[in-house]
Amino acid sequence: MEGELKLCSPAVIRGLLDEFDAAPRKDFGQNFLINESVPKKIAEVAGEDAPENVLEIGPGIGCLTRELSRKFSRVAAVEIDKKLILLLQKTLSGCGNVRVIESDIMKLDIARLSDEEFAGGDFCVCANLPYYITTPVITKLLTEGGERLKSVTVMVQSEVADRLTARAGTKDYGAITAGVAYFGRASRVMRVSAGSFYPAPKVDSAVVKITLYGKNESTLRPKSKEAYFELLSSAFANRRKTLVNSVSSNTGFEKADLEGALSRLGLDVRVRAEALTPEDFARLADELAG
Ligand code: SAM
Repeated sequence: MEGELKLCSPAVIRGLLDEFDAAPRKDFGQNFLINESVPKKIAEVAGEDAPENVLEIGPGIGCLTRELSRKFSRVAAVEIDKKLILLLQKTLSGCGNVRVIESDIMKLDIARLSDEEFAGGDFCVCANLPYYITTPVITKLLTEGGERLKSVTVMVQSEVADRLTARAGTKDYGAITAGVAYFGRASRVMRVSAGSFYPAPKVDSAVVKITLYGKNESTLRPKSKEAYFELLSSAFANRRKTLVNSVSSNTGFEKADLEGALSRLGLDVRVRAEALTPEDFARLADELAG
């Protein structure tokens, strides 16, 4: 499409914001992409598993949305900012397969939204996420997305990317790493410097793709999902303590029972939470359940 607006140009973005009486809003985490290779790459990576449908969170000016509309048959884009809804009508006027929905993603029922927008078909999620709700959004998507959600490709702060993709035994490994591992595999796609955004945030970012496990694909199958997640949050609640001390002070488990379970699994009773792999946590949760 020649002659279309350059949505990654800071001058064009400022002009559009002026036209719609808007300005970048900090409270909505608005840092717009100005490096056009980035939305192209995100759309390419998200489209690799080739589901027909994509849900975008926070289309902003529409630069990523436009790339997604080229790769996918159907795009549903949820934007909270009323002023940007009007602006998007202009910037996405050439994209007939995009539907912009004015809403707060945290208030939407993801399963219902995907049924309505994608007629019950498979879908993936893409977002340059507003940093203030990164973890709640990822948690919501993974827990509510259901079997039709195939992948989540998101821009997050670099340190969050480190945590999502960390290996057991490293300082970045934590409850979020082992929590995401329950649902799928997280991998880092690319690093994105602060200068790729307008306005520039204080920290660098990175794109992470979480590919959700298909049916029977996961090797991580604790008997109880709830017990697994409760164990994770109590184990990492006090990172400096041993796992036994952290879990016993945050749950009803006795130290002796925890030590017994660790020993039976061949694990050191003085171990700290970060040394356990997600599989270890699953085995420990099962062992504690008796
Ligand atoms: N996708 C655009 C880009 O890459 O340039 C904008 C990204 S900007 C970091 C985050 C976007 O999410 C903004 O457009 C913001 O208004 C929107 N947003 C913030 N909170 C939201 C929420 N709770 N629900 C939906 N959209 C939200």
